[in-house]
Amino acid sequence: MSIISCPECNKQISSRAALCSYCGFQLGDVTEQDLEIFRARKLRDRIYRLNMVSYLVITVFIAGFGWYWWDSRGFSQLSSIGPFVLMGLAAIAYLVVRALLFRARQQRKAMRAKRQLSNELRKNL
Ligand SMILES: [Zn+2]
Repeated sequence: MSIISCPECNKQISSRAALCSYCGFQLGDVTEQDLEIFRARKLRDRIYRLNMVSYLVITVFIAGFGWYWWDSRGFSQLSSIGPFVLMGLAAIAYLVVRALLFRARQQRKAMRAKRQLSNELRKNL
């Protein structure tokens, strides 16, 4: 076994891999199971990234709230519009991320529900 570069994405992969684990480029005889595992990993990574983005968005919202507190001198004066714009954008972004997460989790659920799910695939979901 040696390490080669994927011809599609140039990442380092095993020469024995049937498909690139990063981009899905097919190097050899790819079975339906290989493809399923690849899709499962992609989905898992997507859910992970979406979770990270949702934490980031929450942090931005809290920062906007802090800005509002600071700008209004501890809620005793009128604040400028800036903090509200920031909190509004963060709230919208949060809803979008939650919707994407919901869809990705539904896909994962559908994948898990498949009857002939191998152990190898289960590990990746
Ligand atoms: Zn690749």
